[in-house]
Amino acid sequence: MTNDPSLRVSTKRRRILGFAAAMLWTLALGGTLAWNLWQQGGVLLDEGRNQARAALETQAAMRYFVTHVGGIYVPVAKGVEPNPFLAHLSYRDIPGPNSGTLTLVNSSYLIRLVDEMTPGRDRVRVRAVAIDPLSEKNAPDTWEREALRRIRSGASEWGEMVVEEGKRWWRELRPRIASAECLDCHRGQGVKTGEILGGLSVRVPLDPLQAIMARQRMGVWLGYGLIWFLGLGGGIWGYVLTGRWARQRVAMEGKLKRELDNERTLGDILEISLAEMPFESRLHRILEVTTRSSLADLEPRGAVFLADPETESLHMAAQVGLAPVLLDACAQISFGHCLCGRAASTRELVFAGCVDERHETRYPNMTAHGHYCMPIHSGERLLGVFTLYIAEGHVRDQQEQLFLTSVADILGNLIERHLARQSLEHQAFYDELTGLPNRSLFLDRLRHHLGGGRGQGEVLSAVMFLDLDRFKTINDALGHDHGDRLLSEAARRIAGCVRPQDTVARLGGDEFTVLLEEVANPATVTHIAERIHRALEESFNLDGRRVTTSTSIGIAFTDTLELSPDGLLRDADTAMYQAKAEGTGRTVIFDVGMHSAAQQVLTLEQDLRAAVVEGQIEAWYQPIVDLTDGTIHGFEVLARWRHPERGIISLGEFIPAAEEAGIVRDIDRHMLEQACAALVDWRSRFATDTMDSLHLAVNLSCKHFAQGDFMDCLLSTTKAAGVRPEQIRLEITESLLLRDPESAGQVLNRLRGMGFKVALDDFGTGYSSLAYLHRLPAQVLKIDRSFVAGFLNDTAQSALVASIIRIAHGFQMEVVAEGIETEAQAQALAAMGCQLGQGFYYSHPVPREEVDELLQACKLPLCTTG
Ligand code: C2E
Ligand code: CA
Ligand code: CA
Repeated sequence: MTNDPSLRVSTKRRRILGFAAAMLWTLALGGTLAWNLWQQGGVLLDEGRNQARAALETQAAMRYFVTHVGGIYVPVAKGVEPNPFLAHLSYRDIPGPNSGTLTLVNSSYLIRLVDEMTPGRDRVRVRAVAIDPLSEKNAPDTWEREALRRIRSGASEWGEMVVEEGKRWWRELRPRIASAECLDCHRGQGVKTGEILGGLSVRVPLDPLQAIMARQRMGVWLGYGLIWFLGLGGGIWGYVLTGRWARQRVAMEGKLKRELDNERTLGDILEISLAEMPFESRLHRILEVTTRSSLADLEPRGAVFLADPETESLHMAAQVGLAPVLLDACAQISFGHCLCGRAASTRELVFAGCVDERHETRYPNMTAHGHYCMPIHSGERLLGVFTLYIAEGHVRDQQEQLFLTSVADILGNLIERHLARQSLEHQAFYDELTGLPNRSLFLDRLRHHLGGGRGQGEVLSAVMFLDLDRFKTINDALGHDHGDRLLSEAARRIAGCVRPQDTVARLGGDEFTVLLEEVANPATVTHIAERIHRALEESFNLDGRRVTTSTSIGIAFTDTLELSPDGLLRDADTAMYQAKAEGTGRTVIFDVGMHSAAQQVLTLEQDLRAAVVEGQIEAWYQPIVDLTDGTIHGFEVLARWRHPERGIISLGEFIPAAEEAGIVRDIDRHMLEQACAALVDWRSRFATDTMDSLHLAVNLSCKHFAQGDFMDCLLSTTKAAGVRPEQIRLEITESLLLRDPESAGQVLNRLRGMGFKVALDDFGTGYSSLAYLHRLPAQVLKIDRSFVAGFLNDTAQSALVASIIRIAHGFQMEVVAEGIETEAQAQALAAMGCQLGQGFYYSHPVPREEVDELLQACKLPLCTTG
């Protein structure tokens, strides 16, 4: 408290004031006492004078009486002799009672007798003195003579204090004027009336009075002393009390001031934490404000660290006043190391009053200091630590700890918001799976690159568009987890093929892009593309399963006409499509001609949409026959587009486009309706026994299959047409079923429950394992035509086809071979136990009008029927 300078000043002033007040009090009281004592000195004389006067009055009265009555007679006794100076009076002595004598006593004689007969010397004594005494006893002493002289010189009376025989007396003398009565005794002396005969002299002892006075004075002294003492004591008590109050007030003021400062500083810090400025600047400003605050005995030095839970370390994010050597030494601190690391690992405040053994980071010429290391956290999560330097020997106190906790809270909030923002930004600009930039960031970088004027003129840059071949099949077959792992690994491989300054991004799905900035020439880019091909063609190990893939790459250079980021990307995409069209693992460099091709695809999509609406899509039928005798078992319904200009187009090549355009569902439904109508028509016109066993196989897109109302749609369509579900087979590709076997199984079971039969289309092209077959409640398996095309000349493939047929039979499935083009194929398949088949050998898909002919023939191929 005494550290407060204002308090020190006021204490000094108070001391001076207190001292002055005590002096004044003492002086005032001393003065009053002195005046009082001086007054008492006068009182002594007054008292002496009063007593003298009283005695004189008494004497005068007595004398007046005695004189007036002409004297009094008293018996002559011892000490009372007849007055010789009255011997001239005949009536001086008269006979008294008991034969004694009475003698006349005049006033002077009476006074003398009274005086002589009254015992004690130190008492008030009155006697008569005469200028011309008759008796020697009445002769004046020296003082009386002087007094008489003064009276004769005009004074009416004379009195003063004298010291005689070591004692103090008040002496007074009053003149005795001769009256007619006096002449009786003094006639002989020739006295005249009115003449001064002498005086009445009185002596009052002052010492007894003095003793009384001394006692009184003692009382006064004591009284004053007491008052002085009480006054001074009260003053000191008041001084001490007010001093304490002042200290308490100052302490309270100090506390309030600190609290106010606290609030103000925290307000400032909060404001900074919300200000529009970079995160690091905000941390720095907060440090500055905190270290400058008057709350703690802080030095203008400190740092804020951010925690990285993965590496269990702190990273310096902001600092003020740190020694340069520390910027390196403390750039990264492991949890548990030094003071800050301890605060991080214990998540508790670490306080050090000096550089103690916990302070592990030291450097030459380090000045003595202490630390506050405060963990910053949000709930359980440690976000960082901030450290502040304090003067050595500083004693921590509750209030500053509270302040620092509040600062840590604000910092925690700020860091949390920053992290959330970073993560949002990351989410907005980076692909979560691969960690690569996403489309937005890629386009942004491309825009930036092009905007900076680079990649133009002399400098050449390129955009690569990559799409993994057959990824969808792999993904469907092996599941999304494996698909994701393949994508991550592919991303890593692609990134490994380019320079660090190039940008590799994932646009989504299996599409990647690469921005190659400032390349030497086109050959460099194709060289990089080759490298990427080689890298991706190496097999991927997904949980022990070896999977191979390849990629199609389209390249667009910045020296084309197109210089908008979107345009460049679209060009590279177009080139990639071209590469895909040419096969797998190809690279195509964009050229302007591709624009029109891409344009055509777009037009096609629009035309297809119109075709569906205008009814240009027709159902064609390809018979499915018994391989042993060629009897027709059913028909596969295949979509054909009767194009106004281009004639009949197989829809097979447009199915992906139709799926993209979202119209495949309408096509499938349309095919089903037409098929049902056809079946009803044939039933009415052909023999019932053939018709009852005839089935129609309808293809269903996987997009369609995934839709919720799919089954309702099937049921309502067949019901409306009056067709039994048993007559309809639904062809579904195996990849669709393998993607989610659980729910696919449920759907298939329901379809089966409704009476539909399910056929696994294109079996063998996907990644399905034969082992999966039992989990798929399909009743028909269709061997893909690629197997049929090659198996006759390939013993391995032939063995594969044979085992597919065997296993399918093992699961009580019907087997249909697709794409039979020759009799040999048909016979070989029949020999392997495959009952049914379809293909050009028997019949191409035909329009509905031509089906009648086939049905009438009953047996196929037509040419062999006889
Ligand atoms: P898919 O289901 O495997 O259909 C059989 C395809 O093989 C048909 O091609 C057919 O014309 C062709 N084909 C039949 N016999 C032979 C043969 O001996 N040799 C050769 N090389 N090919 C033969 P298409 O009509 O071009 O259909 C192609 C694919 O398009 C179909 O393959 C099917 O997946 C899909 N598709 C066709 N129509 C529809 C439809 O209405 N809806 C759906 N979702 N997909 C359809
Ligand atoms: Ca089919
Ligand atoms: Ca097929």
